[in-house]
Amino acid sequence: MKIIRADAMGMCFGVRDALALTEELEAPEGVTIHGELVHNEVVLGRLRERGFRMASEDDRDRLPDSEAVLITAHGISERERARLVEAGKRLVDTTCPLVERVHAAAQGLQDDGFHVIVIGQLGHVEVRGIVEDLESWEVVGGPDDVTPLPYDRLGVICQSTVPESEARVVFAAIERENPTAELRYVDTVCKPTKERQAALESLLPNIDTLVVVGGHNSNNTRKLVRRGTEAGLRTWHVQDAAELEASWFEGSERVGLTAGTSTLQETIDAVDRALRAIAAEKSSAR
Ligand code: SF4
Repeated sequence: MKIIRADAMGMCFGVRDALALTEELEAPEGVTIHGELVHNEVVLGRLRERGFRMASEDDRDRLPDSEAVLITAHGISERERARLVEAGKRLVDTTCPLVERVHAAAQGLQDDGFHVIVIGQLGHVEVRGIVEDLESWEVVGGPDDVTPLPYDRLGVICQSTVPESEARVVFAAIERENPTAELRYVDTVCKPTKERQAALESLLPNIDTLVVVGGHNSNNTRKLVRRGTEAGLRTWHVQDAAELEASWFEGSERVGLTAGTSTLQETIDAVDRALRAIAAEKSSAR
């Protein structure tokens, strides 16, 4: 059994930089992380151990008790920012610059008179940050969500982690359902996401089994898993090496390895080592 790693995978610079900033913070017990900094239980556990307080993503309406509030890489709306500042909170901002680009694109479309359509997951923390500042908007998760809309100008953007192939299908559905509307598309899928998806696409024809490492609640990890399943591969989603089972790889010859953007390098390497151990065991049993 051969293990083939994707050329690009794992933690993106946006999440890495946000984590690096937490390392520099003194007195973490005085800081509330406003939502999940990363959708990764190992990392969240370490932050808790260091003393950071955490507001769950569903509980962000409640004002944190701490003096400082850390904005995650997913960003927040200007409205939310103003609410926190008016309440006297000191903001530690780790918003990814590529998320800021999505906000700017949405605002630009609105300023130009477009009804804004966000291709992404309704309720996702990044998407909430984008739409909370808009007057006229909707979120579509897939082509089945697309309907004829009563607007002459439709501006389309994507959550930064939407696969480009998915965005193309949804955009085609918007065009089809709104044939007379003026459409403008701004590509806001981030570069690390594109690189990871391209790396997975080139891996798919060369493997019979795929292992995806990442949090079970990580949206982009789930999309990698779905792509593997759609491609007809035996696909396994694990959070860490301990979840791997040797019996999953009966008959597997070429196993691809990829990971979501919130996965630590050490977790990927541990899964890689565990897969190689399973491969060695299989070959010695022959
Ligand atoms: S996935 Fe992209 S947009 Fe999101 S934090 Fe990472 S680099 Fe930034």
